[in-house]
Amino acid sequence: MAQQQDLLKKIIAHAKEYGFVFPSSDIYDGLSAVYDYGPNGVELKKNIRNYWWKAMVQMHENIVGLDAAIFMHPTVWKASGHVDAFSDPLIDNKDSKKRYRADVLVEDYLAKIEAKTNKEVAKARKRFGDSFDEQQFLETNPRVVANRQKTEEIKNRLYPAMDRSDMAAIKQLIEDLGIADPVSGSKNWTEVRQFNLMFSTQMGSTADGASEIYLRPETAQGIFVNYLNVQKTSRMKIPFGIAQTGKAFRNEIVARQFIFRMREFEQMEMQFFVRPGTEMEWYKTWKERRMNWHLSTGIPAEKFRFHDHDKLAHYANAAADIEFEFPMGFKELEGIHSRTNFDLGAHEKYSGKKLRYFDSEINESYVPYVIETSIGLDRMFLAILSNAYTEEELEGGTQRVVMKLPPFLAPYKIAVFPLTKKDGLPEKAREIMDGLKGDFMCFYEEKDTIGKRYRRHDAIGTPYCVTVDHQTLEDNTVTLRERDSMQQKRIPMNEISGIVAQSLAMKTQGL
Ligand code: ATP
Repeated sequence: MAQQQDLLKKIIAHAKEYGFVFPSSDIYDGLSAVYDYGPNGVELKKNIRNYWWKAMVQMHENIVGLDAAIFMHPTVWKASGHVDAFSDPLIDNKDSKKRYRADVLVEDYLAKIEAKTNKEVAKARKRFGDSFDEQQFLETNPRVVANRQKTEEIKNRLYPAMDRSDMAAIKQLIEDLGIADPVSGSKNWTEVRQFNLMFSTQMGSTADGASEIYLRPETAQGIFVNYLNVQKTSRMKIPFGIAQTGKAFRNEIVARQFIFRMREFEQMEMQFFVRPGTEMEWYKTWKERRMNWHLSTGIPAEKFRFHDHDKLAHYANAAADIEFEFPMGFKELEGIHSRTNFDLGAHEKYSGKKLRYFDSEINESYVPYVIETSIGLDRMFLAILSNAYTEEELEGGTQRVVMKLPPFLAPYKIAVFPLTKKDGLPEKAREIMDGLKGDFMCFYEEKDTIGKRYRRHDAIGTPYCVTVDHQTLEDNTVTLRERDSMQQKRIPMNEISGIVAQSLAMKTQGL
């Protein structure tokens, strides 16, 4: 764990040093859980966003895009349930003065029990070898059975208490389990209170009668309220989807862990509208497709897992997370939710407008059901960054940090270097750069030794470096150096573009 925390610290430091992510308002010592993306970060982020858009909109004839405003009519958030129910139970430790989400304290406790069970299973597997029957072990080993019983009992207290918003019951649970502050070890807790996560502000001047409006806590509602506008203007037939990327805002109680939990973040959401009764089929399909998308980035499959929800949000009849193994452990990266007709039904009620779809195939009019795929762009950025960050020992005892980013996501695709600053090499290098920069993000650099320039581009994940030397002037060949293998080969300069283009091809199967 300490090693993993160490890794997170290294990634944060690297992200700052190499222009990926800066704390917001850095010269004023930052603003809690708000971050700015630097020159390399903004490219990487844009490439991830484009890759998602491509998989969703370009690859599906029945999915179209939308860019709804951040501000929405305040009644939207009444209808969606956010005004009444978008809150987390908050608890403070009186000694450490640290604030926690009460449900997360209990869930962390459950995770510890699960880790114990997993340890028992691993030990038994080792002992019994090929003859090990995991199911039987889980059902009969006394320690494991007791752990599972305890887990069930805790869940049976936590989730109903959350549903009832019964803060006293959650506090009692924390006390009964003897949960201590993870930082100070103190059990001196305050009462549990509900805390609404929406940011609000005033629209209009006071003289005009300003009204309170919210910064959207999710992009999804912009899609719901526009669903008929989009369906009619794009002549979509059910099943069809609407995709959107954009900022969302949540006044998170515990905002730690870098860009994993931010107060201002970006979501990439797609709402897929289906005929009632077909939603479970589509839920399954989108779970598979979204997992395939993650795997198509080249991140190993063992870094991902599904977590099916026991406790469903008020609007859902099925929900799963795709979890990623971040440096701080497996955590939610994306949610896939079967949201029923809750949102459209509620907007019908609150707006008084019909939001029905006439399905000519079955001659029926209905409020569509919705499958949602919702991923945080910043969390995806952190997943990509932490998977790419590699420290390597090289021959001769030196070290390098290399960002093994998938080439199609890397901020720069090619760096062009003249070997020296004289003899016409910069001019030749510029000529090559000019021929490439219309198609690829290229970086030109002539300062420092070639070795140092390679290291700088390893650190930001540039897949190819091209070096121009005196031989280039004679025969138009260059040295092409590949980031991961560090192999160098001499190639005609007119082949650079083809090689790089090939490495950028995206896998589109199963998306
Ligand atoms: P969590 O349980 O981690 O708070 P959530 O279940 O509330 O997340 P959703 O409302 O399902 O999250 O939002 C969809 C996605 O938006 C999440 O899977 C996550 O990737 C992203 N997301 C949510 N909250 C944040 C945040 N504070 N900072 C960054 N990304 C976030």
